[in-house]
Amino acid sequence: MKRTIIEIDAAKCDGCGVCILCCEEGALEISGEKAVLAREFACDGNGSCIGECPQNAIKAVEKDCPPCSVFAIMDNIIPKGEKHITAYFDHLRKHECYELMDAAAAYLRARSVTIPEKNIK
Ligand code: SF4
Ligand code: SF4
Repeated sequence: MKRTIIEIDAAKCDGCGVCILCCEEGALEISGEKAVLAREFACDGNGSCIGECPQNAIKAVEKDCPPCSVFAIMDNIIPKGEKHITAYFDHLRKHECYELMDAAAAYLRARSVTIPEKNIK
């Protein structure tokens, strides 16, 4: 499917890692001293990372890629622990993505993963 996703200009990227820290979806990784979009399914295309890059190396593009899946994002985040789960919920709340919060919470409950209390409505 065609949708908005980010693209990183490797020639500009200096591998500082700032974008990794601001991507609560866990879509980005450092590989070969450059940031890469390691998980297209986790990139929601909202562009939170774009303005954070000191090298102006990130831009939004329209391209064919897998749909963004909150369930796949949760599968990626759950092993990282409660701190990451909470940060992701905080991110969804900040962007008023309440339906995604409900879906993520239901996904956690179905897997008997403890939901940080502040994430329960
Ligand atoms: S913030 Fe920009 S320069 Fe830093 S790692 Fe990410 S893409 Fe590269
Ligand atoms: S647009 Fe959002 S989800 Fe995609 S890489 Fe940037 S911060 Fe992560």
